[in-house]
Amino acid sequence: MTEQAFRVLPAVTPENEHFWRGGAEGELRFLRCGDCGTWIHPPQPLCPACLSRSVAPAAASGRATVLTYTVNHQPWYPNLDPPYVVAIVALPEQADLRLTTNLVNVAPEDVTFDMAVRVLFEEYPDPRGSVWLPFFEPDPEATS
Ligand SMILES: [Zn+2]
Repeated sequence: MTEQAFRVLPAVTPENEHFWRGGAEGELRFLRCGDCGTWIHPPQPLCPACLSRSVAPAAASGRATVLTYTVNHQPWYPNLDPPYVVAIVALPEQADLRLTTNLVNVAPEDVTFDMAVRVLFEEYPDPRGSVWLPFFEPDPEATS
């Protein structure tokens, strides 16, 4: 087994635990408004669309498209070997639902705008409890 790349792990709180630990069940979870259906990210206690407090975690499809990306060539961290792709992906659930992530299992020169990708999770052990970081890879089931 290769050594796991160094990552700066997020501080997991009750407010964002659904997002960082949803990967344990293979789910990309966001808060969603129970009244109007708006997806909310990053987490906040009020729905920004209708001000409802009826917000709860829900699983998104895990599919996305590449909105924009950059290729990092700088060796910032041990075991995180460049080049690697930092991307903003757009989720189909809602126009403004986006994530900054890494694209994996694809050569940087093969990445394109609007490329169909899907989530995969990598578990990072932490003394305070594992974190599942969401990354994205080319979606072999994409129709377009
Ligand atoms: Zn709402």
